[in-house]
Amino acid sequence: METTTLVLKPGREKPVLNRHPWVFSGAIARVSGSPTPGDVVEVVDVDGRSLAHAYYNPHSQIRARILTWDEHTPIDDAFWRQQIQRAINGRQQLNLEPVTNAYRLIHAEADGLPGFIVDKYGDYLVMQCLTLGIDRRKEALAAILADLLHPRGILERSDADVRQKEGLPQQTGLLWGSAPPDEVQILENGHRFGVNLHEGHKTGFYLDQRDNRALLGQPHFVSGKEILNVFAYTGGFAIYAAAHDAGPIINLDTSVPALTQAERNIELNGYSRPDDVYLLGDAFQVLRDYRDNGRQFDIIILDPPKFAHSQRDVQRATRGYKDLNWLALRLLPPGGILATFSCSGLISADLFQKVVFGAAVDAHREVQILHTLSQGPDHPILLTFPESAYLKGLLCRVW
Ligand code: SAH
Repeated sequence: METTTLVLKPGREKPVLNRHPWVFSGAIARVSGSPTPGDVVEVVDVDGRSLAHAYYNPHSQIRARILTWDEHTPIDDAFWRQQIQRAINGRQQLNLEPVTNAYRLIHAEADGLPGFIVDKYGDYLVMQCLTLGIDRRKEALAAILADLLHPRGILERSDADVRQKEGLPQQTGLLWGSAPPDEVQILENGHRFGVNLHEGHKTGFYLDQRDNRALLGQPHFVSGKEILNVFAYTGGFAIYAAAHDAGPIINLDTSVPALTQAERNIELNGYSRPDDVYLLGDAFQVLRDYRDNGRQFDIIILDPPKFAHSQRDVQRATRGYKDLNWLALRLLPPGGILATFSCSGLISADLFQKVVFGAAVDAHREVQILHTLSQGPDHPILLTFPESAYLKGLLCRVW
């Protein structure tokens, strides 16, 4: 079989040698052979030296995503099986099962499987195929997962916006086994959550915030405290706080199904909390109204959706984060707690801290960082792929 190769421009091999898994269109001098979109190609330097094997997509700015740097590793069924098994072994090492029956099994590039996300929710698996290279192979990948893990069903939730950049439509549906019910219940750190795998955000639940919910939800932080849970979704932070006798909690979100589920999750855990509020509204507007009315909260959680989707958005996004944090800082009494997050991969932890700094200066507040926060270890960060570090947060005390 004729091998197809991507020949890199002179001097553009450095990131590949440093094991960054993306080959951008601008780094490519020419393509020899005529690969079909999604095919595996050999990446070579200008002298024809083999550097890596990658899957190829001419419709994406990320022209190729590297699968192996070892020229002797064939990309066959055994390769995919081995990578999946490696990711599963990595989760077993974390000993997550006593803590939760819902966690990320495969974290795409960071697990050596570019564009491929798999989350486990009890007996069900949810797959996200973010690239053409993965989309083309998804049935085979689902079969390997079924064989290794024996789930009850594997659902596809490839309804992420990034698929557009790969020239792919959004797609959802059952890939294997039986379809999950509308509500799958998971148990995370002893807290019960109902999750809608078909329609919930991402694959259904924000698994990446597990450790941060546990940290903030401790009695010494939340007991008796009045909490404003901004961007509440299905009440992740609220359930943990309610378990430790938090005072009244306001859950604020723009999504009716999310707030309905948040209220249901309180019931699922057997709590009776007549003073909690489920408030449908825009965070910026509601925070401004609270400011105008001189309202205060002991704890404010800011866990907004991704503001920066591309480099073009970064400036606007940083303004958004700054406004939000500035507003929240004004609603906290001295000694109050702010848990503030950004899940924009394009905003580094360093930049995010600078944004919060700017908000604090403008709000004339003194802010102490108690904890710097990140995504849980089932969402590993690959050292050679800083883009995999997307969730960052600061747990702050505000004076
Ligand atoms: N903290 C949650 C996850 C939050 S995800 C957890 O631990 O599970 C972000 C949430 O922000 C989503 O539920 C989304 O519906 C909501 N959202 C998006 N834009 C918003 C806005 N302008 N105002 C309020 N909520 C918003």
